[in-house]
Amino acid sequence: MTPLLLPHQLLLDAGAFFEACGTRGLEGTAMIKIGPGGPALIIPDQQPWRSPAGHVAVEVTRAGQLELARALTAEELFVARIHSHPAEAFHSAADDANPVLTHEGALSIVVPFFGLGLRRGLDACAVLRRDRTGWCGLPPGAGRDRWIGGMPENGR
Ligand SMILES: [Zn+2]
Repeated sequence: MTPLLLPHQLLLDAGAFFEACGTRGLEGTAMIKIGPGGPALIIPDQQPWRSPAGHVAVEVTRAGQLELARALTAEELFVARIHSHPAEAFHSAADDANPVLTHEGALSIVVPFFGLGLRRGLDACAVLRRDRTGWCGLPPGAGRDRWIGGMPENGR
């Protein structure tokens, strides 16, 4: 089993999208697919939400769900969800219940500080892996490197 290696540019693109959402105090969400062409970021149509008290959430719209379904060829599958949080990176109850990825081995990346945390790489993010029992945290280090990592800047 080789780890999912995310291209530097993919993480830059995700970070740029999340930061753009963050300028309006909103979360963003995206998916990562993998296939013969390697990993790719898919940003679906989405509806972010912010209450007057500053509680935030984001939902993929019906149109976005169709975009995700159409984004896959027969040889591709979604391997990870990546989304931003306003402050700390953790899996909320809503994140645990999100139905978009439920297969064993799926990964979930939570980026802190409206995407800004990604400037410090995956180590600044929460990463979870789905196993038979549910989502399990992968703290930075060998236990995480087994499953996922970022490519160096010159590795694309
Ligand atoms: Zn979340």
